[in-house]
Amino acid sequence: MNKKKIESEYKKKIKLIIKYNKNYYDVSNPLVTDKVYDDLKKSILNLEIKYFFLNSENSPSKTVGFKPSKNFKKIAHRVPMLSLSNAFGKEDLINFEKKILNFLSKNRKFNLSYSTEPKIDGISASLMYKNGEFKTGLSRGDGKEGEDITANLATIKDIPKKIDLKDFPEEIDIRGEVFIQNSDFENLKEKFANPRNAASGSLRQKNPNDTKKIPLKFIAYTFGYEKGLKIRNQIDFLRKLNDWGFKTNPLNKLITGVENLLTNYNKIEKNRTKIDFDIDGIVYKINDFDLQKRLGNVANAPRWAIAHKFASNKAISKILNIEIQIGRTGALTPVAKIKPVNIGGVIVSNATLHNEDEIERKDIRIGDLATIERAGDVIPHILSVDKVKRDNKLLKFIFPKICPSCGSKTIKEFNNITKREDAVRRCTSEGYDCEKISIEKLKHFVSKDAFNIDGFGKKIVENFWKLNLIRLPQDIFKLDFKKIEKLEGWGKQSMENLKYSINQRKNISLERLIYSLGIRHIGLENAKILSKYFKSFSKFISFSNEAILDDILNIDGIGGTQLKSIKNFFDNKVNLNILKELQKILKVKDAIINNKNGLLNEKTFMVTGKLSGISRAEVKSLIEVNSGTSVSTVTKKLNYLIVGEKPTKKKVDKAKEFKITILNQSQFLKMLNVSS
Ligand code: NAD
Repeated sequence: MNKKKIESEYKKKIKLIIKYNKNYYDVSNPLVTDKVYDDLKKSILNLEIKYFFLNSENSPSKTVGFKPSKNFKKIAHRVPMLSLSNAFGKEDLINFEKKILNFLSKNRKFNLSYSTEPKIDGISASLMYKNGEFKTGLSRGDGKEGEDITANLATIKDIPKKIDLKDFPEEIDIRGEVFIQNSDFENLKEKFANPRNAASGSLRQKNPNDTKKIPLKFIAYTFGYEKGLKIRNQIDFLRKLNDWGFKTNPLNKLITGVENLLTNYNKIEKNRTKIDFDIDGIVYKINDFDLQKRLGNVANAPRWAIAHKFASNKAISKILNIEIQIGRTGALTPVAKIKPVNIGGVIVSNATLHNEDEIERKDIRIGDLATIERAGDVIPHILSVDKVKRDNKLLKFIFPKICPSCGSKTIKEFNNITKREDAVRRCTSEGYDCEKISIEKLKHFVSKDAFNIDGFGKKIVENFWKLNLIRLPQDIFKLDFKKIEKLEGWGKQSMENLKYSINQRKNISLERLIYSLGIRHIGLENAKILSKYFKSFSKFISFSNEAILDDILNIDGIGGTQLKSIKNFFDNKVNLNILKELQKILKVKDAIINNKNGLLNEKTFMVTGKLSGISRAEVKSLIEVNSGTSVSTVTKKLNYLIVGEKPTKKKVDKAKEFKITILNQSQFLKMLNVSS
């Protein structure tokens, strides 16, 4: 490429980034995802490094944010509000530390301590305090001048208006992040694309009364101008902020060494979705203020801090098709098949569309360009589609009104609690008429909490279905193993293993059996309740007279919804036949009925650590048979903690704190008159 071409390419990129900045910072409605923005920024910075003659005052290497809006009075920051340099991996962190050590002329062994602070994805604000009083509040603007948003900031409860403490400096600009919690954002979803834009848009409203309606939060993390601050490092400063009445991030930590920074980063990134606000990385700041001062700033960022960004969890891709999946309970779930795209290191080619209403609300069409989000372990989903770039030939998606698998009518049930139609559309077929529902029911039947047949996974169910080996639950116990042995991917050993697992499960408890049937609204807990009521399989099977139905309604935990569902199940002849067939094959253990006068009556127990010669399940059953209750957390109400080998220290400590009686295995067995 010749010089002219390079310059023109560079100018184009600068023009584009100015446009993105305006929409992000000023309009609070970004045109592209952060990943697209960050890639563009990186490409500009790389060009500047490669070609020394490239230079622009609008380059992201020189600018911060965007110039203040004309809607507000402009006020100069007494100390500039800067941006942060970015790190994307271990190598960037090693380089960051190396550069600092070189700058300070320290050798490699010198230990640098960092204040590590989750980077909240909100917008920053600077609060000027004089003699303990909140006087003026500014947005960051372009870093040199901010917008006067004092009245808007004053509506935020987290911002102290008066601080009457002796050690609060005579003058100080407290800086931090204004943001919206994800749970609060739920109610603002219609108006803004994400919590950051909602915070930015709400904070910069012309009328403070409009800002007041939005539950904005403030977390403090640094200061600008100050007169009279006695503190000498960042971690102490963060603690002091708390004393003065500001909120700080509870995940802030002092850490030394790049390896430890990475451990902390991985831990927080893993739990990122559990935090009720968006964080897009972790900020590392040299802890010592004297060192910070020596290091100073580059054009638009301090040399002593860096933001270690999380991998982007959003991407844009094309919707190739919308498929309808049918679940065990007949729910029709639309799934978008998208052009495979890398999101945070994982190739994504499917995204859930939740239900018919979601497609309608977001007007999602086959052929659209969509923004897809993958957060934590959640299934990737479509945030929005680009209606501007949409080809006008694209048709509105028509949701099927009949089941694509069996052709039955589909309905949206009326929900008696919400008094509205359900968002989910369902296939109305009962029993095993619908192929897709049948396959899902069989998967449920063999699953972990149900029959728990080792080695009988979802893929095998699908494969056996295709080969016509199974159609109904009882078929699982009548499999032609000779045929299976000869199938591709199978052999004598794997066939024998499967045969063994299936035979082993012919002995089953009543509650597991009830759960396995996959009756709608009958989960583990309700299956347990029902098994205690019916006591034996033969009673359960002869169920269905009106007197029993009325009686069931009196059981704690079973309501009208469950009852209707059980009735539907028993009204179906195929289901009745399945029960009869299973009765011939299985040995169903009667439900364990708690003896109210047992030795452990009204006492609660918890086990920690490994017991010898007795499993957890057996202990639990011993407790229940003797009228005790087995619980899973240590609370003040717990009566006994049974401690085995290598117990969880926290649980033992907590039990001691609550003065709970601690038993070893033989002491516990003695309570039951059993010798160990
Ligand atoms: P930055 O996000 O890189 O870093 C500085 C900011 O971090 C501070 O101003 C402050 O608001 C925030 N912060 C949060 N916690 C902090 C803490 N503990 N200590 C210090 N600062 C903390 O800042 P930037 O310069 O505004 O922006 C670039 C970011 O904005 C990038 O992630 C970029 O992707 C995004 N952006 C996106 C678009 C778009 O169109 N999608 C446009 C512009 C910028």
